[in-house]
Amino acid sequence: MCKLLYSLLLIVLLGTPCLADIELAPKGKQPQRLTDVYLMHGLSYVALDDVLDAVSLRGHWNSVTHVYRIRTANGWAELSPGRQNLKIGNDFFPLKEKPRFIDGRLRVSENFIRNQLSMLINRPIYYRNLNPVTVQNEGDDNTLDRLFSFLLRKKKIVAGPKLRGVAIDVGHGGLDTGVIAADGYKEKDATLALSARLSKILKMKLGIPVHLSRDDDYELTPEQRLEPVAHEDVDAWLLLHAQGSFTEAAEGVVLFVRSSADNLNEGPLDASRQLAEELKAALEESDVPVVGIFTSPLVPLGQGGLPTVLLELGYLTNPVDLQRLRSSYGQQQLAQALYTGLKKFSLNRKKN
Ligand SMILES: [Zn+2]
Repeated sequence: MCKLLYSLLLIVLLGTPCLADIELAPKGKQPQRLTDVYLMHGLSYVALDDVLDAVSLRGHWNSVTHVYRIRTANGWAELSPGRQNLKIGNDFFPLKEKPRFIDGRLRVSENFIRNQLSMLINRPIYYRNLNPVTVQNEGDDNTLDRLFSFLLRKKKIVAGPKLRGVAIDVGHGGLDTGVIAADGYKEKDATLALSARLSKILKMKLGIPVHLSRDDDYELTPEQRLEPVAHEDVDAWLLLHAQGSFTEAAEGVVLFVRSSADNLNEGPLDASRQLAEELKAALEESDVPVVGIFTSPLVPLGQGGLPTVLLELGYLTNPVDLQRLRSSYGQQQLAQALYTGLKKFSLNRKKN
């Protein structure tokens, strides 16, 4: 702990490397421990060479074009400190943070590792930050984290057989389009359509309030994304997304819950896991393929006891998933399944 505090102090004062190690590997493989980790604005930055090495990829920096090229099984991927996207073939995928040179090495943020790296190896990633950031500085993420824990401390989590209300984070919006399908259909439109349908079903069939982070096509601040959760009656939180892969073959729904390493006690994890299991079962019962439930140290999932599941509701790069996400029949099928999962969760929820 002293070592951690000391390193955090150094970062604040001198901007020297953080001693917060991370573990990284393709899911199911022996993780590598990376120690050359820098902290900036509350995020860990890891050298791209180290990241690629941990997942057995090779790349090189071209100092003339200022582009880092990565050889993948499906062609070349490119990153550049001047661009806030990842280029794979002819497709661009938005990044939360640009890659940046820190201490002589091109580094990517942990958000890249969590969100985009799996697309380069075409399989899920195991990622764990062994010393998640708790430094008290003015970084936005920490402010957000504090706000979030404040909101959840204020809330009384009711573990009963009743669902009083649901919060839904409608992924992306406005200039932040999310993934774009080959035919131009955007992730932000899929999440908006699905949340509207799910909200309507929940209100109609359960008569409960549904709090959406947005109900139209506009961009949200991170604080606005959390607003729905602040309502006293919210007993579950779903974050809706869709994803892209550069192989057509990748298909199905992927569910994420917070990793146990980020939970101080078991209760909240159990509830989130339980909700994810019910959603998975309901999706599979309505013939929607499900890849599985994974843990992810997603920043906004907070420390509280609110059952929370992030859903990637299909691949916009897979024709069958795309059809389901954009057709009204498919959207209704997905929304109905999510409703069923939420209802079963409320009925089967363990009292504790
Ligand atoms: Zn998304």
